[in-house]
Amino acid sequence: MFYIGCHLSASKGFLHMAKEASSIGANTFQFFTRNPRGFAAKDIDEKDVREFLDYAKEHNFGKILAHAPYTLNPSSADEKVRDLALRIMTDDMERMEYVPHNLYNFHPGSHVGQGAEKGIELTATLLNTILKPEQTTIVLLETMSGKGSEIGRNFEEIKEIIDKTELSDKVGVCLDTCHVYDAGYDIVGNLDGVLDEFDRIIGLEKLHAIHMNDSKNPFESHKDRHEKIGEGYIGLDAMEKVINNERLKHLPIFLETPNELDGYEAEIKTLKEKRDL
Ligand code: FE
Ligand code: FE
Ligand code: ZN
Repeated sequence: MFYIGCHLSASKGFLHMAKEASSIGANTFQFFTRNPRGFAAKDIDEKDVREFLDYAKEHNFGKILAHAPYTLNPSSADEKVRDLALRIMTDDMERMEYVPHNLYNFHPGSHVGQGAEKGIELTATLLNTILKPEQTTIVLLETMSGKGSEIGRNFEEIKEIIDKTELSDKVGVCLDTCHVYDAGYDIVGNLDGVLDEFDRIIGLEKLHAIHMNDSKNPFESHKDRHEKIGEGYIGLDAMEKVINNERLKHLPIFLETPNELDGYEAEIKTLKEKRDL
């Protein structure tokens, strides 16, 4: 089964997102849990959730991916900023259990001058506070491009956060193709080498999802600007190898390219055509 979707607006609820996904040939989707500015979240509508769960089952949807507001910084030097991340993500964890057994992705944070070690420590502390043994949601650390003082800029930093997390079976990784390429992992020239390295340092069993984005900037630029599939420095051939790689084939793919719905529909169609059976 090829699970592919894109980022959708959550403003009209779960069932609406699922139908919108279906209408563009997707069988999963990503959404923000709340407005990244102001952090307002839509109330959970239990009827909407029930209808969504039925619809997703009927239409053989893959796991869906919730994305935390990217404006949070769990590794900030400012206690108030860290506390905001903690409160919002605690609430998100509760909300995720209405749609159990899915995925929740967040940016590990920026250490803003404290040093990566301190940042890693603070992010692990946040995870040790929000994760509960009974939760069904897997929380994913997103691989980052290393712009500014971002942590999660390499596999070693991600691994360190996981190692410092007590309930590490609740934690996984989301690999963003644009971010890792910008960070200096050559998925274009040596995808298998990058996957070997991921496996050696983190373990491929920890990889739960792929953000598929081309990059507006060249290799190792540490920029993080997404481009449409095939229109950036990564290119369509490299994406084709990602979706068909034996070690990645089982993972859901989420597009976060600069597109409206029709652009996403076209990219999904292209990638489905490139996918081997
Ligand atoms: Fe992200
Ligand atoms: Fe991403
Ligand atoms: Zn990005």
